[in-house]
Amino acid sequence: MFAVTILGNNSAIPTPERHPTAQVLTYNDQLMLIDCGEGTQTQLAKYKVRRGKIRYIFISHLHGDHYFGLIGLINSMSLLGRIEPLTVFGPPGLWDILELQLRHAATTLRFELQFQPLTPESAGVLFQDKDMEVSCFPTRHRIPCYGFAFSVQRRKRRIIPEQTRAYEIPSAFFSHLADGEDYIRKDGTIVKNDWVTLPPNPARRYVYCADSIYDEELVPWLQDADLMYHETTYLDDLRQRAADRYHSTTVQAATLAGMAGARRLLIGHFSSKYTELQPFLDECIPVFPNTELALEGATYII
Ligand SMILES: [Zn+2]
Ligand SMILES: [Zn+2]
Repeated sequence: MFAVTILGNNSAIPTPERHPTAQVLTYNDQLMLIDCGEGTQTQLAKYKVRRGKIRYIFISHLHGDHYFGLIGLINSMSLLGRIEPLTVFGPPGLWDILELQLRHAATTLRFELQFQPLTPESAGVLFQDKDMEVSCFPTRHRIPCYGFAFSVQRRKRRIIPEQTRAYEIPSAFFSHLADGEDYIRKDGTIVKNDWVTLPPNPARRYVYCADSIYDEELVPWLQDADLMYHETTYLDDLRQRAADRYHSTTVQAATLAGMAGARRLLIGHFSSKYTELQPFLDECIPVFPNTELALEGATYII
């Protein structure tokens, strides 16, 4: 499964109902945390996300609503006996902050905390493993801020059951077929792999656009998203306020999703001055019909 679960969908000020930004990306058994606003660790517990499984944390920028929960989470991981390394990606100042907090508490973590600084030169691929590629790109915000794109490659070919039956291929050989191997029958004749399989499913891509003013120059980074997250701090009547604070509105996020050819748009980072979220959806849908609200505790399949 490739999916994202929302832990926080609010902007700067937490409210009893809505937390600042944090999301968990799940791919098979791997978990990655995207931003870590205040209260993230209690949200992880509330929605039964296994924090021990988090291997990577991506912090978009150093506004507190995106990282004030990080030191608490790291501290708890150590108290709970974590020994696996944890890698945090974030702006360079984040390491100074974490190091200071740990030093003044005389805390020695039980696990290795690795830090990868993000700078404008980091734009592009951050790392790749067997199936996933993670990239970052700068957004336009009041302080340096980065969005992240997660692409999952599907490498396994898909078995065509009628064909494998017709050629009498034993199921024990199916994993080799999925890897692209031909099948050799007892009489020595060869069953070509593409007679009995289809190409792998296409790659899936999630793009997290972090905080940003409306900026069409982001479009190349946002392209081909199966699911694109974009902030909508304000409804569209507050365009000027959004621009002054380097944030975006509903119509702006929906417009960008259309320009980028996204298949679905997920909106969040709502200003705490709003108690109702339905108007956000109502403003986006006429511009980009496949829009969904980022709701806390909800999981969106990518
Ligand atoms: Zn923010
Ligand atoms: Zn911000």
